[in-house]
Amino acid sequence: MADCIFCKIVAGEIPSEIVFKDDRVTAFRDIHPVAPTHILIVPNKHIASINELQPEDEGLMGYLFTVERKLAEQEGIAQSGFRSIINTGPDSGQEVHHLHLHLIGGQRMRHPMG
Ligand code: 5GP
Ligand code: ZN
Repeated sequence: MADCIFCKIVAGEIPSEIVFKDDRVTAFRDIHPVAPTHILIVPNKHIASINELQPEDEGLMGYLFTVERKLAEQEGIAQSGFRSIINTGPDSGQEVHHLHLHLIGGQRMRHPMG
């Protein structure tokens, strides 16, 4: 997607602090972290939101969470705990229309966010 900021990060056209990358998924630190660990895990292919998910994306979505588990361990927050957030559409406050999983941790969470 030409105008998608996360597609540009995946393609390496915009700098970011990438913490994991393979042929399916890219993970990088959020530019405005709300906690000591705040990582965004995105599919490399452009999917605007959960509303656009197709049946063939089921494996990819499961894989996002497997990557999240590995990153939580790497960050040292697997046992202390973390929050997983995917925003979809206007009421959620979704700002970037490329599906992304927020991995947030390293501090005690306030309810309901951050
Ligand atoms: P949303 O509200 O769409 O769920 O979350 C979008 C997230 O992307 C926000 O937490 C925001 O700080 C982050 N973000 C927006 N633009 C950039 C960017 O250019 N680089 C990085 N690393 N994060 C970004
Ligand atoms: Zn995109």
